[in-house]
Amino acid sequence: MTPRRRTERRPEAEAYRALYKTARWKRRRAAQLRGHPLCAICEAQGRVTPATVAHHVTPHRGDPAPFWNGELQSLCKVHHDVDAQSAEKGGSRKHVERGPDGCPLDW
Ligand SMILES: [Zn+2]
Repeated sequence: MTPRRRTERRPEAEAYRALYKTARWKRRRAAQLRGHPLCAICEAQGRVTPATVAHHVTPHRGDPAPFWNGELQSLCKVHHDVDAQSAEKGGSRKHVERGPDGCPLDW
């Protein structure tokens, strides 16, 4: 009995990772953070925090159409993770698998 590697769990996780490796995404992410350099949630609360994550407002789950065309939101790491946890509460309680930028793969 061999433990399954996390990378083999779901094909959509692989698709997700592949999308985040593209130069096109790196450009899109950089453009988002350049255009909106502050965390949107912190900003709404009157705080100024540099954003480090270009978050997909609509979950794309590795689907290229929402991945490329969906709206992005600049978030700090803390708020990105809080957001992920509140989304997780809506479904079954499980470990959140994360992509290379910290985005949960289940989104
Ligand atoms: Zn924040």
